[in-house]
Amino acid sequence: MSAGPVQGLAAVEQEIARACQEARRDRDSVTLIAVSKTFEADAILPVLAAGQRVFGENRVQEAKAKWPPLLESHPDTALHLIGPLQSNKAKEAVALFDAIHSVDRESLCEALAKVLPASGRAVELFVQINTGEEPQKAGIAPQDADAFIAACRDRFGLTIAGLMCIPPVDEAPAPHFALTAKIAKRNGLAKLSMGMSSDFATAIAFGATHVRVGSAIFGHR
Ligand SMILES: *Cc1c(COP(=O)(O)O)cnc(C)c1O
Repeated sequence: MSAGPVQGLAAVEQEIARACQEARRDRDSVTLIAVSKTFEADAILPVLAAGQRVFGENRVQEAKAKWPPLLESHPDTALHLIGPLQSNKAKEAVALFDAIHSVDRESLCEALAKVLPASGRAVELFVQINTGEEPQKAGIAPQDADAFIAACRDRFGLTIAGLMCIPPVDEAPAPHFALTAKIAKRNGLAKLSMGMSSDFATAIAFGATHVRVGSAIFGHR
């Protein structure tokens, strides 16, 4: 592999700018989350040096092991948890992450409601929607989304910022992005976490405010 993560980041930035222009959106309306899971500090440091300040990880333990020194040297960095969260790790997650994209069940809401106020931290929460209704995938089924979002607010007192989805790998992503955007709109949610390396430009056309891009920046895992 000749191109490194800094070239990958530049290429992704260029494609985001193009997709925003095509969709007549401000570049500032899309946050790029550089997904650094499985990569070590030696791969992440050049991306930090290039100015990227929002990163995604899918495991609490992995993030805890590698990010503290990087955050100390780059304190203006935001970390987003994009993978599943066990309720018993909610406290650790809230201490480390600025956003959690995988709110997907009431027991997790309960755990977050318990630890968030005492943490004194503002953590942006996204409800994960299982748009493809895939049994092996986390997330709330589309038909249960409105009731779940209402429960987050009314029963658990959580502020939900937006929705997240991961379309099935073998399907066109556009209908899944459209469905997620529609559920967000009717629930008054402004943020949409959707789009990965293979489909972030499409996601931007459908209103993504957060794109989660790993391999297009860091290379294959
Ligand atoms: C790994 C991962 C990504 C990034 O995937 P790429 O295809 O490498 O861009 C995005 N979202 C989630 C939830 C992931 O686990």
